[in-house]
Parts: sequence; structure tokens; C-alpha cells
Amino acid sequence: MALGILWFLVWAGCLGLIFGSFLNLVIVRLPAHESIIEPRSHCRSCQHQLGMLDLIPVVSFMLTRGRCRYCAVKLPLEFVVIELLTSLLLITFARREGPTMAFLLRDAPFALLLIAITFIDLKHRIIPDVLSLGGTVLGIGSSFLTQRLYPLTVYESVGGAVLGFTLFFLLAVGYERVAHRQGLGGGDVKLLAMLGAFIGIKGLLSTILISALAGSLCGFIMWLGERAPTRSFLQQSIPYGPFLVLGALCTYLYGGDVWFRFMILM
Ligand SMILES: [Zn+2]
Repeated sequence: MALGILWFLVWAGCLGLIFGSFLNLVIVRLPAHESIIEPRSHCRSCQHQLGMLDLIPVVSFMLTRGRCRYCAVKLPLEFVVIELLTSLLLITFARREGPTMAFLLRDAPFALLLIAITFIDLKHRIIPDVLSLGGTVLGIGSSFLTQRLYPLTVYESVGGAVLGFTLFFLLAVGYERVAHRQGLGGGDVKLLAMLGAFIGIKGLLSTILISALAGSLCGFIMWLGERAPTRSFLQQSIPYGPFLVLGALCTYLYGGDVWFRFMILM
């Protein structure tokens, strides 16, 4: 591997750690309707403002063995997982796209949006509009750039956003009419518009199939884990956003026919 590319990947990895640390703040504050700029980063338990040393991704967590340096409260392991996951995803995108504007303005923000949406939906069962609708605008706007990782024209991007939204909107309304309860939330509908803007019409089928398969498999495993599966368990809703993200990510990385390979694996 050329030295220049190696440095680029190291840079992308470091960028991922820094932005992963920022995502931790976004994931905590956005659902609580708090500003992501003010106040500066502080411990949620003792309110002590964090110093430079506390803000170094992963390293600060290791040095304090996952505890706050001021009040010793245990910090969630999720903090370091998100930092590492963001770093890994940016390195993967960087390797496939190369040092281009498309990486900086399309792939990297897409990766950050996917991680933020996944963890906010898992924890709070919501997908903030600022992420999904903002992501839709970003997906369409950045489709003007020359891309190598997942080439898409502006028309395909707009088409993907419109079709993704319409399809899931109709599905959500239809399900509610038949089952008399909400299956898909409005957040999922707007998320699919955003994903469509990044993967286009050709990637939607693959995304929906993988998410449905992975979601069913996960639901089945959870059902097996229940001692006495009751009707109330079956009526519990599992957040669907993370599965849609998984489907879109597989499609973005491996192309629109990845669902076929995914099905063979299952
Ligand atoms: Zn503290």
C-alpha cells in the first residue's frame, strides 16, 4: 500500500475517533432537546466540566478504567464502542472512496448520521428530524460529487428519497389500518427518505429486504429467549431504525445485489 494512502487511512481513523467522541455528546443531548454546543462537555453525574485529557477519545476511557475522573461514576462502555465504531466505519469508507471530496462531504457525514440514528433509536425509540431530514438534504446535495464507493446521479438520489418516503408512508398507514396499532413510526418513514437519497431507488429493495430479514431473525432470537412468550411480547415493538441502517450500510458498501448473498448466508 502506498505510504500516502496509509497516512490517509490513519487520518480517517483519527477523524473517526474525534467525531465518535462528538457523536456521544449528540446521542445524549439531542433526544433531551439540549444544545450540542453549550454548555461544554461535562460529567452528567457530577456536572464537572471535562478537561483536555478527559476528551481524548478511547485513551481517556482506558486511563480512568471507564470512570469519571472527578466523581468516579462508571461511564457506559457504549462511549468507547461508538468512538471505535465511527473510526472503523470512516476507515472502511476512506479505503473504498479514496482521498476525495466525496469522502469528506458525502461518505463521512453519512457514516456519522448512521451511527447517531442507530444509537438514538436504540436508546430512545426516536429518530430526530434534524438528522433524517438534514441527512436527506445532504444526500441529495452531495450526489453532485463524483463518487467511487456508491456512484449515484442526482436524479437517482431524488428518486430514492421520494420513493423511500412514499413506500414506507403507505406501508405505515396500511399497517395501522389493518392492525389498529402503530407498526412503523414517522421517524422510520423519514429515515427511509434519507437512506434513499444515499442509495437511490436501486438500493432501496436491497435495504428493505436485509432489514426485514435481520429484524425477523433478531425478533425470533428474542422470542426464543423469553421463558413464556406472551401476546404482550409479540406486540412489543423493536426499534426498526437500526435494521434499516444495517441494510443501507451493507448496500452502500457492497452494492444493490448484496441482499442475495445475505439471503444465501442465512
Ligand atoms: Zn463525574
